[in-house]
Amino acid sequence: MDQLTLKIVKTRQPHNCWGCTKEFPKGTEMTISVVVDQGEFSSSYWCEECNEIMNNLDDWNDDEFLFGELRRNYEEDNNEVSMCNL
Ligand SMILES: [Zn+2]
Repeated sequence: MDQLTLKIVKTRQPHNCWGCTKEFPKGTEMTISVVVDQGEFSSSYWCEECNEIMNNLDDWNDDEFLFGELRRNYEEDNNEVSMCNL
């Protein structure tokens, strides 16, 4: 899986965050991640909060998150992640 783009955009329509599944209205600044996996392009939107969580994970790139999984992982590992923030 190769990451092609990772940038912050102001959304032109509502998008659901891939990490936490919450819907964010248009005009929200979200991080868009475009990857190509076995010749297939896919893009996902991430809210600011999930983007920050993602930045604190060293190995997120190796794992493919399912929709909403980031938030579930985060809640389970909350203590660990908080310690990384210090
Ligand atoms: Zn989110």
